[in-house]
Amino acid sequence: MKAARFHEYGGPDVLRYEDAPDPVPGPGEALVRVRACGVNHVDLDRRAGISGFPHDLPFILGYEMAGDVVALPAGVASPPVGARVLVPYIIPCRRCVYCRTGRDNICAHSQRYGGTRPGGYAELVAVPADELIALPPGLSYEEAAATQLAFGTAWHMLLARGRLAVGETVLVNAAGSGIGSAAVQIAKLVGARVIASAGSDAKLARALALGADHVVNYRTADMARAVLDLTGGRGVDLVFEHVGGELFGHALRCLAVDGRIAICGAHGGGSVALDLLEVFRRQVQIIGSRIYTRQELLTVLELVGEGRLRPVVHAVLPLAEAAEAHRMLERREQFGKVILRP
Ligand SMILES: [Zn+2]
Repeated sequence: MKAARFHEYGGPDVLRYEDAPDPVPGPGEALVRVRACGVNHVDLDRRAGISGFPHDLPFILGYEMAGDVVALPAGVASPPVGARVLVPYIIPCRRCVYCRTGRDNICAHSQRYGGTRPGGYAELVAVPADELIALPPGLSYEEAAATQLAFGTAWHMLLARGRLAVGETVLVNAAGSGIGSAAVQIAKLVGARVIASAGSDAKLARALALGADHVVNYRTADMARAVLDLTGGRGVDLVFEHVGGELFGHALRCLAVDGRIAICGAHGGGSVALDLLEVFRRQVQIIGSRIYTRQELLTVLELVGEGRLRPVVHAVLPLAEAAEAHRMLERREQFGKVILRP
């Protein structure tokens, strides 16, 4: 098969579009022809060798796949050969205490595509057959690939972890990203008021088009002051934060008393200054959030299939241009997801 692999860590140019051995399905595993694969910022970190996770080289990146079933293991008939399917990024063990209590997102023994297993920057991938999810009719491979991490992660973080409720106000940081644009839509769907922040006016205009009630440019404005002005001096009930660095400090100042800040990323810097006096005096909750459960993935896929949530695809590139896809993310010019098509 063809794949985009890297044999050494480095810049985008270490990604080589080349022949690679076909994956050999293990017991109970189906073979899936990948039709679309999402590109995520963490792919860039893995390729550069700064993710903190070692890889067996050469390695195939790619978390978010949609494609067709081309072969099934003995004794398995569903989903049938030819079915259009989504490949869940995480394969939980289904046995640990987290899996047995509905928290398979934090499974202690999970396997992950593009992390612990070869991912979707390839024409073929082996997947446990009972993990495959049928695509809703009418949803394209590209839209399906753009759904999983953005909407799944945003759903878990806003609703399960952040406990966003009808009538509350939420600040969605970096609303131009895949996950940010998903969060704006989910927050509106559940009846919250949304303030979206981004670093460019073009991205803010797109956030407004997705339903954001107010926008703040955090590069040109004092974000906390602007958010306090928009909320009558009270601040927001929840901050959806995935940037870190300086923006985290500004986001804390946007919180109402008894507010929550939920976090699922920190590409702008993982170590931040934190005044503990402020945390307890203002009764602030800082909440970590990690991807999504299988049930949450099924829910968002259904809502996307019904057109109630809309994945935002910035660009679709052939797999041979994986390096250019990485450059696009490095330039931070995208609004929504960049998708590779093997
Ligand atoms: Zn488990």
